[in-house]
Amino acid sequence: MTAFLVVSRGILMRIILIGPPGAGKGTQCQRLVEFLDVPHLSTGEMLRAEVRSGTPEGVRAAAYMDQGQLVPDSMILGMVTKRLESADCRGGFLLDGFPRTLPQASTLDDLLERRAMNVDGVLELAVPRDELVRRMLARKRADDNPEIFSKRISSFEVQTAPLLEYYDRQGKLATIDGLGDAEEIFGRVKQALDRFRRGPAGRR
Ligand code: AMP
Repeated sequence: MTAFLVVSRGILMRIILIGPPGAGKGTQCQRLVEFLDVPHLSTGEMLRAEVRSGTPEGVRAAAYMDQGQLVPDSMILGMVTKRLESADCRGGFLLDGFPRTLPQASTLDDLLERRAMNVDGVLELAVPRDELVRRMLARKRADDNPEIFSKRISSFEVQTAPLLEYYDRQGKLATIDGLGDAEEIFGRVKQALDRFRRGPAGRR
C-alpha cells in the first residue's frame, strides 16, 4: 500500500541528518531546507567559514579537518548553541553534521529541553562503505585524498554511528536507503518526515 503523505511543503520541523562522508547529505539537505523552509545548520560549513576568515578558531579547526579528524566538542558546542539560539531557529531547523559524538547529542538534548523543544526526527542516510569509496574515486575532489577520506569514514563509524542507537532508543530514527537517484531518495526522506509527523506509533 502506498502511504498517504500528510507532510506538506513549508512545514516547520526540527530534523537531524546523519550520514557518512559521500552519502549525498549535501543534495538531500538542499532539498530538505527548501521543502521544510527551515534554516540549514551545517557545522562543517560554519567551520569552513571560520577557516576562510582566518580566525584563531578557524586555524585551530583546520588542523583537525585537514587530517579527517573531528574538531574537539568544546569548539563545536559554543558555535552551535549560539546559532540555535537565533530567532530564525525557533520554529524549526535542519542540523547537518551535528551532532557527531554522544556528548554532542546529549548537550543538544539538554539545550533543547531547557527551551521546551525537542527534535522531531533523525534521518540516517545509509550507504555501504564500498559504495562511498567508489563515489569518492569517481568525483575526485581536491579534498578527497583517499587516505583522509577513509579516516573520515572511520571517524564516522567509531564516533558517530553510536548516535544511531542513541536516537533509535528514543524512537526518533528513520534509516533511509541512500542508493538510487537523488529524487528517489528524497521521496524516501519525505515518507520518513511523514512518519515523524504521525508520532512514535507511525515510525516503524
Ligand atoms: P562536514 O562538512 O560536515 O563533512 O564537516 C567537515 C569537517 O568539519 C569534518 O570532517 C570535521 O573535521 C569537522 N566537523 C564538522 N562538524 C563537526 C562536529 N559536529 N564535530 C566535530 N567536527 C566537526
